[in-house]
Amino acid sequence: MKKHVNYFMIVAFVLIAGFALMGENVLSANAAEQTKEDIKVCENGHTPANEWVIKRYARFNSDGKRVKLCKVCGIAVKCEKIPCIASVRVIHKKLICNGKAFKPQIQVTDSNGKKISASNYTVRYSDNVWPGRAVAQVTFKGNYRGTIERAFKIYLGKVTLTKVENTAWGTRIVWSAPGNRSYAYQIYRSINGGKCELLFTSMEGGQSFLDQHAKTPGVKYTYKVDVICYPYGDDAYGSASMTPPKSVVYKEKKLSTPSVTNTSKGVKVSWKRVQYATYYEVRGSGYKDGVLRNNLLIARVKAGDSLSIIDKNLLTRTIKRDKKGNIVEKAPVNYYVTAVVSTLTGKFRSSSPRTKGKWVATRKNNIPALRTR
Ligand SMILES: [Zn+2]
Repeated sequence: MKKHVNYFMIVAFVLIAGFALMGENVLSANAAEQTKEDIKVCENGHTPANEWVIKRYARFNSDGKRVKLCKVCGIAVKCEKIPCIASVRVIHKKLICNGKAFKPQIQVTDSNGKKISASNYTVRYSDNVWPGRAVAQVTFKGNYRGTIERAFKIYLGKVTLTKVENTAWGTRIVWSAPGNRSYAYQIYRSINGGKCELLFTSMEGGQSFLDQHAKTPGVKYTYKVDVICYPYGDDAYGSASMTPPKSVVYKEKKLSTPSVTNTSKGVKVSWKRVQYATYYEVRGSGYKDGVLRNNLLIARVKAGDSLSIIDKNLLTRTIKRDKKGNIVEKAPVNYYVTAVVSTLTGKFRSSSPRTKGKWVATRKNNIPALRTR
C-alpha cells in the first residue's frame, strides 16, 4: 500500500508541478519570451485580418495601395494595388432645356476598365438648368480621394415666332424659348420677300420686338429671330437657335378720332382702347404763355385706367386776353389722343386725327360750347 501511496504522491506532484509550470507560462505572457512564441505561430502561417487598411488612396491617374495585416503580429501579409480612377464621364443623350434641372448619370471606371460603384463618390451639379455649360462635380470617398469636374451641354432647343402682327406703331413680333428666361436675340427681316437682313441685336433679354419702321400698308414683312444664350456667341454649346420665319402684310392701324362732348364739368374727351398701349396723352390746341400752341399736353392717362378725361381748363387755354382782361383771340379746339407704347427699345407714339370741333361761344357758366363739325 505504501508503494501505492508513494506512486500516487509522485503522480500528484508531477501534476502539481506541471500546473505550476503552465501557470508560469501564463504569467510570462507579457514578457519578452511571448514574441518568440507568436513568431513561431506566424511562421506556420499568419492570420490576416478581414479588413483592408488603406495605405494610399487611389486618385485620378494615381494608383492606391491597401494591405491586410496579420491579426497576430501586425505585419502586412497581403498587399494590393487599388487601380486608379481612369475615367469620369457624364452619360446622357442630347439635353434640351426644359426649365428643369438635369442630373445626368455619372460613369466612373478604374484603370482596369472596371466600373467604380456610385457608393465611392458623391455628385453635385451646377448650372444644370439653362442652356450652356453645366458642371457635374464628383467627389470621391471610400478607397478613393479627389474631386473631378466634368462639363456637359444643355442645348437651347426649339424657339418659335409666336406672333407677327400689325399694331398702331408698326409690326410687332413675339417669340418664345424654353423656360421662363430672357435670352439675347438678333432679329432678321426681309421686305416683300427680299434678302433677309439683320435688323436689330439686343443683349438685353426680351421676347418681343416692335419694328416701328415696318408700317407701310401693303408691304409684306418677314421676320426670324436668332435666340442666343448667354454668354453671347457661346455656340460651342449650340446655344443659338433661329426661329422659322413668319410674315405679315401691314395694314394701317389708325387710331380713331376721339369724341368730344360738353358736360357740366367741362369738355369730355373719350377714345378707344389701343392694344399694347402703355399710356395715352390727350393733347389739344391752346394758349400757353400767350402763345397759341397746337399740341399742348392736357392729360396723361395710364393704360387700364379710364378711356376719357374731362378738360376743365378749356377756356383758360383757348382764350387770349389783354391786360384789362378782354378777350382778344379765341383758339380753335382740336383735341387728339396719342397712344404711347413703352418697349425695351424705346417709346413709340401713334396719334389719332384731331377733332374738328370749333370753339364758338362762352356760356354763362363758363362751359364752352363745342361744335364737333
Ligand atoms: Zn503574423
